[in-house]
Amino acid sequence: MKIKQPPLPLHETLLCTPARLDVLPALTAPLVDWYRRSARDLPWRRGITPYRTWISEVMLQQTRVEAVKGYFARFLEALPTVEALAAIPEDALLKLWEGLGYYSRARNLQRAARLIVERHGGMLPASCAALRELPGFGEYTAGAVASIAFGIPVPAVDGNVYRVLSRILLSYADTSRPAVKAAFREAAALLLTDNSRSPGDLNQALMELGATVCLPNGPPLCERCPVAPHCAARREGCAADLPVKAAKKPRRIEERTIVLALSPDGVLLFRRPDTGLLAGMYEPLNLEGRLDAPAAGAALEALGARACKTLPLAAAKHIFSHVEWRMRGYLVYCAPFSAGNGVWADASALAGAYAVPSAFRVFFADIDRYFNMLEAPPAE
Ligand code: SF4
Repeated sequence: MKIKQPPLPLHETLLCTPARLDVLPALTAPLVDWYRRSARDLPWRRGITPYRTWISEVMLQQTRVEAVKGYFARFLEALPTVEALAAIPEDALLKLWEGLGYYSRARNLQRAARLIVERHGGMLPASCAALRELPGFGEYTAGAVASIAFGIPVPAVDGNVYRVLSRILLSYADTSRPAVKAAFREAAALLLTDNSRSPGDLNQALMELGATVCLPNGPPLCERCPVAPHCAARREGCAADLPVKAAKKPRRIEERTIVLALSPDGVLLFRRPDTGLLAGMYEPLNLEGRLDAPAAGAALEALGARACKTLPLAAAKHIFSHVEWRMRGYLVYCAPFSAGNGVWADASALAGAYAVPSAFRVFFADIDRYFNMLEAPPAE
């Protein structure tokens, strides 16, 4: 019989001394004061509601603040309520999300919105446990919405917070390990003991410090840090070595050949399967392997195209979390034909109806010019 080991004390999991953990409650006041003085003015921090906080937190995962600003405004304008998000057709939702990447986030938003309408009358539940039951609400997102929008004292620990806490505590524990992540959440909870302070402001202070002062790339700006006197890594001069994170497995490389077929009816797009990478998005003909022009043209002819004129396009690369596509592309002029489940998208449908992932951006950068050349395509 396997005997379950008792959990290690927090300081042992974090590989730091207990005395360093004792410092944490004293950091709450300087952090919150600093945040209230210095926080960036961001759209989702104005007029906080649970819905706005939720949408912004999901958008901000793996995406830069500057990139999110425009998307957040457009999304809230198109879908101002949970009900509107629950009801929008999936293609239109993906079109709103086009370019933000990690499209499962958008689909999870909608699945969660439908459950919120069904189970909670369209209001996000004011409980971390109830939020965790919704699709797309991991520990971080539930903690962020619960603390920022509802004032519930729970931690919200993202990559910024791991960095800040590992430096303050001088923790060399591997932040990619689930046990260490849980220990950092426990450590962050030690800062939430002061009930006179807003848990939302405290959590945002830790994240803001990581984003703007205790920087991920380049040296931290310790002279501007409100908790510098308590930071062990600053004292030891080793902040740049932290946090420790085990190297990820290298990404799988895939060679792809992208065929942009153009006819007077538009550009030929196919909807990707409902599950997996870029699920439900639209793409040009996307073939496995590194094909030459005759092979790419032949693949299109196998679908029914005739009288093709094939031109090479610039090569491109796109990096996903676990795979990297190395793409070569061809532009093919042909007569319209019925291509199975393919659709011909003209310029206005391409702009307004079909969500094409940014992986293909480089091939579509000149699409207006390609459309203009339809009357007299260049010679091969
Ligand atoms: Fe980060 Fe420097 Fe502040 Fe320590 S003192 S938390 S290293 S910015």
